[in-house]
Amino acid sequence: MTRPFDVAIAGAGPAGAACALRLARAGFSVALIDQREFPREKLCGEYVNLGAIRELQDLQLAANLRPRAHPLEGMRLYAHGETAAFKLPSEAWSLSRAVLDADVRDAAIAAGAHPLTGRVRQLRVGASEIEIEWHDPAGDAHTLRARYLAGADGMHSAVARLCNLTVSETERRFALGAHYRGVKLDRWIEMYASAHEYLALNPMGGESANAVFVLQKDRLARSRTALGQELGVFSRHVSSGRRPIDGAAFANSYQATGPLAHRTAHPAMKRVLLVGDAAAFVDPFTGQGVFLALAGARDAAAAFARALGHAHAEHAAWRDYAAAVMERVAERRRIAAMMKLMLGVRFATRRAAAAMRKRPGDFTFLIEAVSGNAAAYNSLELATAVGKVLR
Ligand SMILES: Cc1cc2nc3c(=O)[nH]c(=O)nc-3n(C[C@H](O)[C@H](O)[C@H](O)COP(=O)(O)OP(=O)(O)OC[C@H]3O[C@@H](n4cnc5c(N)ncnc54)[C@H](O)[C@@H]3O)c2cc1C
Repeated sequence: MTRPFDVAIAGAGPAGAACALRLARAGFSVALIDQREFPREKLCGEYVNLGAIRELQDLQLAANLRPRAHPLEGMRLYAHGETAAFKLPSEAWSLSRAVLDADVRDAAIAAGAHPLTGRVRQLRVGASEIEIEWHDPAGDAHTLRARYLAGADGMHSAVARLCNLTVSETERRFALGAHYRGVKLDRWIEMYASAHEYLALNPMGGESANAVFVLQKDRLARSRTALGQELGVFSRHVSSGRRPIDGAAFANSYQATGPLAHRTAHPAMKRVLLVGDAAAFVDPFTGQGVFLALAGARDAAAAFARALGHAHAEHAAWRDYAAAVMERVAERRRIAAMMKLMLGVRFATRRAAAAMRKRPGDFTFLIEAVSGNAAAYNSLELATAVGKVLR
């Protein structure tokens, strides 16, 4: 019988591929399985913040990615008739996820990770290893054995569900997005928000923009033609006519996902760690997901290495991993909640816009937090900063 892999990883997005890369470089045997062929598109605003760039630097991938990324200079926010613009204080990119995800996965494979194409369907957790049943694109079933498993299979994680770790959510918003031609944005992101929905535009070079709509489910449950009209109406309304998106053109080529929520009771259980969105999904409004995926992958790889190195280290390694992930996710959820409050509630938006005109310095901390400048980040300071803005 062949030896089990040290770690099998379900999902080769940034979380799974970065975890595979770190483990393979450290000399562990890794199977990296994804249901999709790569390169593949992934619905995402494609905003890569400083925290994510630092993680890519640590993986020695940033220098090679930078020439294919579009540098960003600032963000313009529009909500309830108010506008605010701020320069990004540090390096940030817009970068196609087809490019980013393929680069991280290619590096993992070059370092020795074994790639497989198929969907994880069943798990059997044993005393000293885990058996993973996966189905290839033709529908044939296969079995893979590993000492440990990383569930890095995204927002609707099958691994989390199979481990009974998924907590039900009431979220009703869905997202759809595409690269859209005919919008010139220079190097500025634009966000148009209403109470519960928004349109985000991210420059992708020339007249191409990444356009993401986050909308209530009812709007999306329409025929393709009616959806095209609805997107046109929504984009005109939410941007006060500034950014009319031709909904018909958009609706011909979009990707969609939702509902936009995923929580787990815990990111770790016997022989399994959940990583990236599979562990916890953060509202995409502030674009923290790629950073969280890469940072979680760093912690998960360290936890696996610890457990593989010492027979009784799993318990402590899992405990430390869970604590680090839950703290980081809680912080980023607080940032997202604060931004949602300031842009989603008319009264708060007016207060914040007035404060921005009079005391722009009060916003420095919030801007640093959204930009992913971890060195400047602390939740208590963030709450104080928001209090100052809304006083
Ligand atoms: C609308 C929207 C906009 C966003 N905008 C931004 C943004 O601008 N900036 C930012 O930083 N973040 C953004 N995010 C969040 C970001 O996309 C995610 O946080 C990030 O992709 C998480 O990476 P991951 O590797 O955990 O999961 P994913 O990137 O989702 O990768 C999971 C992988 O698992 C595979 N998979 C799924 N199920 C199985 C299975 N059963 N078996 C095998 N493989 C499987 C999938 O094919 C996929 O390749 C956005 C998210 C959404 C929904």
